Amino acid sequence: MSVFSRPDFDNHEEVVFHHDRASGLKAIIAVHNRNLGPALGGCRMWPYESDDEAIDDVLRLSKGMTYKAAMAGLDFGGGKSVIIGDPHRDKNDALVLAMGRFIDSLNGRYHSGEDVGMTVGDMDVMRRVTPYAHGVSDGSGNPSPATAWGVFLGIKAAVKHRLDREDLDGVSVAVQGLGSVGQSLCEYLCQAGAKLTVADIDPARVRDVQQAPGAIAVGASEIHRVAADVFAPCALGAGLNDETIPELQTMIVAGSANNQLAESRHGLVLKERGILYAPDYVINAGGVIDIAAEGPDYSTAQVMKRVEGIYDTLMQVFARASVEDSMPEIVADRMAEARFMGAARQAA
Ligand code: NAD
Repeated sequence: MSVFSRPDFDNHEEVVFHHDRASGLKAIIAVHNRNLGPALGGCRMWPYESDDEAIDDVLRLSKGMTYKAAMAGLDFGGGKSVIIGDPHRDKNDALVLAMGRFIDSLNGRYHSGEDVGMTVGDMDVMRRVTPYAHGVSDGSGNPSPATAWGVFLGIKAAVKHRLDREDLDGVSVAVQGLGSVGQSLCEYLCQAGAKLTVADIDPARVRDVQQAPGAIAVGASEIHRVAADVFAPCALGAGLNDETIPELQTMIVAGSANNQLAESRHGLVLKERGILYAPDYVINAGGVIDIAAEGPDYSTAQVMKRVEGIYDTLMQVFARASVEDSMPEIVADRMAEARFMGAARQAA
């Protein structure tokens, strides 16, 4: 199947394929939209079972970045890159350098950061050959703390809108996934006096977080069924689906995971159950805000301040969704489109 006729093709500006014979690199860069600025989005390394799967992923993810950057108020467009391969088996400096040169060949139309399968160390290696590799160790580094801060503030916004409460003291939160984001989020929640129930498929991660005062651990298959004010998915995508949504006992879903709704129709199912959903790409934009700020004037304090905008953005999304009796993710999509399509009209 060609690229242009795929269901995930959405008028992407560029889709570039690259093979480097010496290192074995096989990679794709997709630039979705640059109306607001250069395309920004992480580099993912994954053992895709087919080229088709890799193409669909890079098309879908790059489009998502256009919406995320627009809603975060960044002057960046959306892009993404994928490396076809197993990061545990196939990754080495030669391959990462080849990826860096590939990114460089787009002359700044695409800026990269880390994503699944890539690390801050890999971005350091890439930076040797391109200035368009971000999230390096002497720059913004690991974006997870900024992401967690944004999710924490997003939970506060959802609690304000749904429960009319200013603080999280005594608010119960069930956190699914205690990785880089989940652990930091638990720290913020704990400091704010929230009551935590946590789960991870990795027992070591659970032990780390259980040291938080009063945190209760449950099995990974139980966490979405916990009766709590907030369910915070911070593991993998597609966790909100036909099996899990009927079992939720919560009033709010707000977490960091990308692509939380298994299908777009699940947003309506949540609404019909009276559950407020914080659109994933709005609440988890802290990381991209962090990476976008990298440069000589980078300041963690300024980034964290900027991430606080997620609270107001979500309050606007929730308010409009209430007035229009719509779903927050539909409202967010329209707000994002108004910003990046508006930029195109201004430029015309
Ligand atoms: P991570 O890999 O560090 O952590 C994920 C955790 O989820 C791991 O501890 C894993 O064991 C656990 N997990 C996996 N399946 C699970 C299950 N079924 N039940 C419970 N736990 C499970 O990833 P992360 O960087 O913390 O990111 C978490 C999510 O947030 C991902 O979906 C990621 O795409 C998204 N996200 C992360 C960032 C960031 O800055 N790191 C930014 C935006 C979005």
